[in-house]
Amino acid sequence: MFETTIAGSLPKPFWLAETNVLWPKWRASGAELEAAKRDATLLWLKAQEDAGLDIVSDGEQSRQHFVHGFLEFVEGIDRDHKVRMGIRNNRYDAMVPKVVGKLRLMGRAHPEAKYARAHTKKKLKFTLPGPMTIADTIADEFYGDRVKMAMAFADLLNQEARAIEADGVDVIQFDEPAFNAFTKEAGAWGIEGLHRAIDGLKCTTAVHICYGYGIKQNIDWKKSLGGEWRQYEEFFPALAKSKIKQVSLECHHSRVPPDLMKLLAGKDVLVGVIDVASDQVETPEEVAGTIGKALEFVPKERLYPCTNCGMAPMERGIALKKLAALTAGAAIARQRYK
Ligand code: ZN
Repeated sequence: MFETTIAGSLPKPFWLAETNVLWPKWRASGAELEAAKRDATLLWLKAQEDAGLDIVSDGEQSRQHFVHGFLEFVEGIDRDHKVRMGIRNNRYDAMVPKVVGKLRLMGRAHPEAKYARAHTKKKLKFTLPGPMTIADTIADEFYGDRVKMAMAFADLLNQEARAIEADGVDVIQFDEPAFNAFTKEAGAWGIEGLHRAIDGLKCTTAVHICYGYGIKQNIDWKKSLGGEWRQYEEFFPALAKSKIKQVSLECHHSRVPPDLMKLLAGKDVLVGVIDVASDQVETPEEVAGTIGKALEFVPKERLYPCTNCGMAPMERGIALKKLAALTAGAAIARQRYK
């Protein structure tokens, strides 16, 4: 009961990449960089095991960015002539690459899944960006239709996800923060994109939908959303009917009304009990309290204590303390709510 896990990313050690930024520069290149990525993956697998997490991740140590880490391995993209584009419904302005031809995977995008699998006996989760979020993070000069382009990406994600499953990964999660920015489209075609991405998979599948990392643009956006954040309400009913097994959502310190979790009947719910937008470390009691609140709306056998979002831009020492708080809080909850 209350198996603990994280949304996905973890801070990169200072010798691998710049710290405390979302899109860090690598410290090395070529074979040295590849070796450093593997070492950082080992380090975080061990740290998660030491913290007592039940479902661990590679911490996304091998990618610079949760979307572009995948796109690096896709053919049909011009990365040399980036264009400025408003993303997440114009919440940020970003310089993005452009799709200029038919999309195709250039071999394996994430061989690190197999490396992580070889180095932990715990259940292993691996994350990929979702089709809608990719389509919202790249300019289109080829497909002429955002949905069509998203579905093309979904097919590539499916190809990679099948390979990751064959590597022995237990959970494959698709990150779809764009669902919260395009709540109507999420139901209209976002879920269809996910279905294409998980086609034929037998492992556990998950989708993570959040209000973003703790960076200024997101904090400002959250301030503009009013007293209650009801974005989830618009597409959770459709998600409840979907073939995705788990939904990872933001809860602690957010203004998401917890009763919206009721809309996910039949799904495993990965409840965010750790705030990634604050350096204040939760107490185990606070974590147990958030689990208790979620239990009013999620059956205990379906509740997985998790982080609100990735921890990539966080200070490493703080991330470690937050992982410890997560597992200590889940331990209290197991006693309290058995
Ligand atoms: Zn997130």
